[in-house]
Amino acid sequence: MTSVVEAFRSSGDARIYRIPLNLFPILSGYVHLVFADDVIALIDVGSGFGDANDQLEAGMAEVRSEYGEKANWEDLTHVLITHGHIDHFGGLHYVRERTQAKVGIHDLDLRVLANYEERLKVVEYRLRTFLVEAGVDAVEGQGIMNLYLLNKHLFSSLSPDFTYEAVGMRVGPLRMVHVPGHCPGQVVIQLEDVLFSADHILAETSPHQAPERLSLNTGLGHYLESLKRLRPLAGTIRLTLGGHEGPIEDLAGRISEIEQLHQERLEQVLNLLDEPKTIAEISQSLFPDVDGYHKLLAIEEAGAHMEYLVLRGYLKIDNLDQLDFDTPAPVRYSRLEGADRLRSAFNAETPGGVLALDGVSASI
Ligand SMILES: [Zn+2]
Ligand SMILES: [Zn+2]
Repeated sequence: MTSVVEAFRSSGDARIYRIPLNLFPILSGYVHLVFADDVIALIDVGSGFGDANDQLEAGMAEVRSEYGEKANWEDLTHVLITHGHIDHFGGLHYVRERTQAKVGIHDLDLRVLANYEERLKVVEYRLRTFLVEAGVDAVEGQGIMNLYLLNKHLFSSLSPDFTYEAVGMRVGPLRMVHVPGHCPGQVVIQLEDVLFSADHILAETSPHQAPERLSLNTGLGHYLESLKRLRPLAGTIRLTLGGHEGPIEDLAGRISEIEQLHQERLEQVLNLLDEPKTIAEISQSLFPDVDGYHKLLAIEEAGAHMEYLVLRGYLKIDNLDQLDFDTPAPVRYSRLEGADRLRSAFNAETPGGVLALDGVSASI
């Protein structure tokens, strides 16, 4: 068998295995199997779509055969979901049928698993309205909705066994840090000098942002706050393993790059709004070449940046007199007087950005 699993060790000698999966036709990623003290934890389970479950089984078999580990379903003690996106939890029904391991998720993503159908319907409703107000035409909007819903009905509600806040954000030596933004209940998981960054920090791509109006506790403002919260940890982290893409060795540097990207994108949006535009028009300027599902991601990304600017008093609705708010209609935004650039840089290096996280240094 060709070897696909990568092996790592933490400073305290916990063993970490990184198993690659094809999650969806255009998306690959990783789950991590961790052996730390008495804890044998699977961090995320993959999408459950296509060959993902078979690849998970093959990865566990390789961890048994190549490394002599007890990588069996019956030995697993915990299944730790990093956030409520289907590429990370979609395989849960498959996994649950095979193991007694306790399944955990953060409190703010609990309902995504436990009340999946309701949550899907509510987001669908909000997304439809958002696309109309963003200025996406009806035909294209329907196409985008169809793509959004395509794989979502493959999952059904499932009750996790515990939430992270209920166990003090800790499972054995694994410590969860809540970093809302990409997802309401997004956590990163620290194991000594290793950080499982899930979709909060990726090596190459800036993690996807959607407007908070679609789902509370997401949005660019929360995301940037969460990035800042991780900076104090960066000095103690040697290796960061994301849910997609390669390992990150310079966490502080990567945080700075992502902050820089959003700062530039916000400035770009302000520049583009020298005349009134819709979110769809801004999205088209920022991401001219996207297609299919990426079109939705691009409109959400543009929407997240414009929402950030609206909330902070940079933008105004330009066509207010045309809106009655009984029927959703395209909304045009323009800059408020004098708001042609950001008032301050994100200046991550300032003392305000390095507030100590409770207990972090004590836990290393
Ligand atoms: Zn995600
Ligand atoms: Zn993901």
